[in-house]
Amino acid sequence: MDTAPDIVRGPDLIDPFGRAITYLRVSVTDRCDFRCVYCMSEHMTFLPKQDLLTLEELDRLCSAFVARGVRKLRITGGEPLVRKNILWLFRALSRHLEAGTLDELTLTTNGSQLAKYAAELKACGVERINLSMDTLDPVKFKAITRWGDLGNVLQGLDAAQAAGLKVKINAVALKGVNEHEIDDLIQFAHGRGADLTLIETMPLGEIDGDRTDQYLPLSIVRARLLERWTLEDIPYRTGGPARYVRVKETGGRLGFITPMTHNFCESCNRVRLTCTGTLYMCLGQDDAADLRAPLRASADDALLNEAIEAAIARKPKGHDFIIDRTTSKPAVSRHMSVTGG
Ligand code: SAM
Ligand code: SF4
Repeated sequence: MDTAPDIVRGPDLIDPFGRAITYLRVSVTDRCDFRCVYCMSEHMTFLPKQDLLTLEELDRLCSAFVARGVRKLRITGGEPLVRKNILWLFRALSRHLEAGTLDELTLTTNGSQLAKYAAELKACGVERINLSMDTLDPVKFKAITRWGDLGNVLQGLDAAQAAGLKVKINAVALKGVNEHEIDDLIQFAHGRGADLTLIETMPLGEIDGDRTDQYLPLSIVRARLLERWTLEDIPYRTGGPARYVRVKETGGRLGFITPMTHNFCESCNRVRLTCTGTLYMCLGQDDAADLRAPLRASADDALLNEAIEAAIARKPKGHDFIIDRTTSKPAVSRHMSVTGG
């Protein structure tokens, strides 16, 4: 497969609120080998394969954003590592790391394929990964992911660390499921030299259950943690919305992503691209721009750049998520696996 030619640097992308867009998250597939209860229903209908951008098209699109000042690319999904030949995309995009036009190429994964791919990802210039793991209990793990196997994911974690990848573990805080396991997750992650980030559930997409049953505000988790741990605020940022503390007793970092209890939009530097080439300017809003048509309409990037500029000019100020018992509808109808977490 051919990669796009080297990029020609264009002007930075600045939204109407003065925020520079420097971070692109790319969902390379909506498919997944797990069926996490907060993310998907068990019988998901996935997109027809022909609707997906090819890997070459994904490379061209990502490269167009890099040419306009995006410094960080996160590959996500669905489960990115189940997309056929996905390492080709990592290899192609690594040329921007070598050229110095990209600071970071990273991914978010459920870890099921990591044992197979960790060393190759490192060879493509990936330095850090986010690994999603909500529990250390194999039975609960199966209950949350429906199809996942904890042992397999732990092997993936071992392989990632052995390959020299820095790992951040992401755990969604779930009421009545893992809420009393957060201490163990801290000890486990920090004991392995990994950061841990806790995430509140977000109302994205129809799922089988009731979201109000899952929602656990991180303000409650934090208050409970303070009974056991000393949490010291630190200025550490990874370019994402997490706010970090240092856990004095372990020396490790703990992040909180709190879209529901804390609005982090003012510092939002990111946009999200789906595997069909739709650009979402905000995770919590429905407005989107189709980049697939301008991408396919011509071999040069003039139309694509126009469409990207028009989209960034519409980036909203922020989102307004609510989970309450008066509305059972998700705030946004598309699933996290479509937009990418
Ligand atoms: N499959 C990969 C994984 O699980 O890491 C990447 C995609 S997944 C959609 C990205 C992240 O979104 C995961 O950490 C997952 O736990 C989180 N996630 C999925 N649905 C969510 C929801 N409704 N609210 C909060 N986080 C969610
Ligand atoms: Fe798959 Fe990730 Fe969604 Fe779980 S959270 S179903 S692993 S895409």
